Amino acid sequence: MHPFPGFSGLGATAADALKDGHETPHLAGGPMHPARAGKGGVWLGRLKGESRVAMNGHDLPILVVGGGIGGLATAYALALKGFPVRVLEQAPEFKELGAGIQLGPNIFRALEKIGLKDAVLADAWQPDGMEMRNALTGKHVMRIELGKSAQERFHQPYAVTHRTDIHGACLEACRSHNLVSLENNQRVDAIRDDGATVTVTLQSGEEVKGGAVIACDGLWSKARETIIGDGAPRVSGHIAYRAVLKREEVPEDLWSRDIILWAGPRTHFVHYPLRRGELYNLVAVFHSDHYEEGWNLEGDASVLMEHFKGERPEVLRLLEKIETWRYWVLCDREPIKDWTKGRITLLGDAAHPMLQYLAQGACMATEDAVCIAEKVAEQPHDLPGAFHAYQQQRYLRTGRVQIMSRVYGEFYHARGVTAELRDMMLSSRTQKDSLDSIEWLYGGT
Ligand SMILES: Cc1cc2nc3c(=O)[nH]c(=O)nc-3n(C[C@H](O)[C@H](O)[C@H](O)COP(=O)(O)OP(=O)(O)OC[C@H]3O[C@@H](n4cnc5c(N)ncnc54)[C@H](O)[C@@H]3O)c2cc1C
Repeated sequence: MHPFPGFSGLGATAADALKDGHETPHLAGGPMHPARAGKGGVWLGRLKGESRVAMNGHDLPILVVGGGIGGLATAYALALKGFPVRVLEQAPEFKELGAGIQLGPNIFRALEKIGLKDAVLADAWQPDGMEMRNALTGKHVMRIELGKSAQERFHQPYAVTHRTDIHGACLEACRSHNLVSLENNQRVDAIRDDGATVTVTLQSGEEVKGGAVIACDGLWSKARETIIGDGAPRVSGHIAYRAVLKREEVPEDLWSRDIILWAGPRTHFVHYPLRRGELYNLVAVFHSDHYEEGWNLEGDASVLMEHFKGERPEVLRLLEKIETWRYWVLCDREPIKDWTKGRITLLGDAAHPMLQYLAQGACMATEDAVCIAEKVAEQPHDLPGAFHAYQQQRYLRTGRVQIMSRVYGEFYHARGVTAELRDMMLSSRTQKDSLDSIEWLYGGT
């Protein structure tokens, strides 16, 4: 669920184990300029004072499918480089479901490049450290300071935030930029590369033309089916239950400024403050073959408690505080090298869905967004070439996170001797050891 740097030292063992309301199409804080919304969705006209780049001689916008964190960060990053973008989102509203997410120093490096670091930090919580505890014995296995020494090392903070808050920061940025058009109730059912342009077909039957498509349509990406066709995501056999409490609902002795992870046999439980400390985020994960597709299903608390039976009272007392849980069946995919076809490419979970054990899915999507905007700006007259360059720059890093996330999950959920071994090895780690082992990720891009 979140990174406890230091696992890389386990070497071979690791490898072996291993939206109510309606959003109006939006420009510059107001409705879409009528001159722009031409017949068939063709982008027309230009607002006064707008500076934009023409691609391949066509003055068509880049179409971004999906308005999650990845889609909005991409739209804004492209707009900052002068490209007009239409974001087509299926939901009736631009909205994030879910609870807290962790933001490693690497996402702040990306957010800084597009001017959104301060906006994201404004509502976030910066924990003093992260601590791993054994959920059976209560032993404090290891602690990593996330304050001064980590910031000096990576030159960026570590923070946790509500998904709504980071998504909201990206949304506001897009709303404030006159090159971004935000369009709801626009489910994309088909995408076609016409050679010099692209055409997407909406659920309504309407066709929309663009210069290219960046599909940020998440884990169950339809675009991926079109350009890769590698079937459904891999079901991990792990389920995450999530809930958020108000600070006053958390017993004083169980509230902590830190991120706390309780590692148990085939389970783990993470908790940390959110939204400037006003909220408290709880995520409980256990092994189960149950499968249901969706992001916001209601979880049965008795099923959860059954899996955590026998764990420390601190764990059980917090779990018992929750009446309504939401759950997600966790899925990922094998890393791939090629997620671009001509004028169509994938980004974020659509390209490289990962388990959340390194807490990096949204971080990787944001890094992708910055990268693709840079590549498009470098070769605006060759979008297929720019997309290829983006993918070349990203696939090894994102693939490594996909693979290592699985490895971290194995360690969090270890049982018996493996768990003892984990605790023994991690407890001897120094702060420097821990930061060294995660340099590849937090120090990257
Ligand atoms: C339990 C859990 C914990 C996590 N914790 C962390 C964490 O701590 N840190 C972190 O960085 N990441 C974390 N993640 C991962 C992170 O949430 C995702 O990687 C990230 O949200 C992916 O963003 P995205 O924009 O690629 O996709 P999504 O957020 O899935 O957005 C896809 C968007 O596309 C839209 N869409 C889909 N299909 C269509 C269509 N056909 N037409 C139009 N629109 C469409 C959807 O409605 C949605 O708005 C966690 C994930 C889970 C499940």
